[in-house]
Amino acid sequence: MRAPMCSFCRIVEGILPAARVGETAHSLAIRDIDPHAPTHVLVLPKRHLQHIAELVEEPEELADLFRLAADVAADEGLERGYRIVTNTGSEGGQTVYHAHLHLFGGRRMVWPPG
Ligand code: AMP
Ligand code: ZN
Repeated sequence: MRAPMCSFCRIVEGILPAARVGETAHSLAIRDIDPHAPTHVLVLPKRHLQHIAELVEEPEELADLFRLAADVAADEGLERGYRIVTNTGSEGGQTVYHAHLHLFGGRRMVWPPG
């Protein structure tokens, strides 16, 4: 029996609605449903992978993901800067186990992160 599709796979397939802000053949950018900054976008590989580290095997897809993030940052007018975060595993704060980058911008970021 096939495993149930994860929520981000359902967004990729168009089964679950999302505010799409950019797309390539390999990657999709959507607005986070619970934003923590004026711009809070998730950039995800269309293919289901649990962790971003799995993309080291696919350098083209990895570059595509970061290219889309940079394009969205430019579209959002984040020329003063932005932050890209990828939470990995339970201690890293990951709650959705479909790899994704968080792109934050539109306010001054604090350091260190929580
Ligand atoms: P993480 O906790 O790093 O795995 O990030 C998961 C992110 O996905 C959280 O910031 C959630 O607010 C966001 N999220 C969960 N479900 C959806 C959804 N259906 N559409 C958009 N963002 C979502
Ligand atoms: Zn998935």
